[in-house]
Amino acid sequence: MHDAVQSLAAEPAAAYAGQRLAGAVRRSVSTQFHPGGTCAIGIVVDSRLRIRGVRNLRVAHASVIPSIPSMNPNATVVAIAERAAALLTEDVGGVP
Ligand SMILES: Cc1cc2nc3c(=O)[nH]c(=O)nc-3n(C[C@H](O)[C@H](O)[C@H](O)COP(=O)(O)OP(=O)(O)OC[C@H]3O[C@@H](n4cnc5c(N)ncnc54)[C@H](O)[C@@H]3O)c2cc1C
Repeated sequence: MHDAVQSLAAEPAAAYAGQRLAGAVRRSVSTQFHPGGTCAIGIVVDSRLRIRGVRNLRVAHASVIPSIPSMNPNATVVAIAERAAALLTEDVGGVP
């Protein structure tokens, strides 16, 4: 009985602590200037960076990184740009 009363008394305190923790996380989390993944390869664009269902439109940007990066993304963005240039060159049949 004593344990049951104690756990009932602890419940609101735990819920309050949980809310405070969730609030603290919301206030402190940021992208650290590394947003990405909003046009993810495999979802919005295909593996050739073409937007699905739209002709002649590609995305070459941090947004195609498939999931939110945990590293500094600039080098990856440069690699995406290099790949986009190669894909476009292939599609027009090579450099004239
Ligand atoms: C303060 C800061 C510090 C950073 N430090 C680092 C770091 O140390 N190392 C690292 O790896 N990464 C760093 N990053 C992240 C890195 O800069 C970005 O991930 C990278 O630049 C993203 O490249 P992007 O081509 O996807 O987008 P962007 O570099 O944002 O390029 C998008 C371009 O599109 C143009 N644009 C937007 N809308 C339109 C439109 N409608 N029509 C035509 N053009 C348009 C914009 O003017 C811009 O030139 C930092 C970012 C910030 C903000």
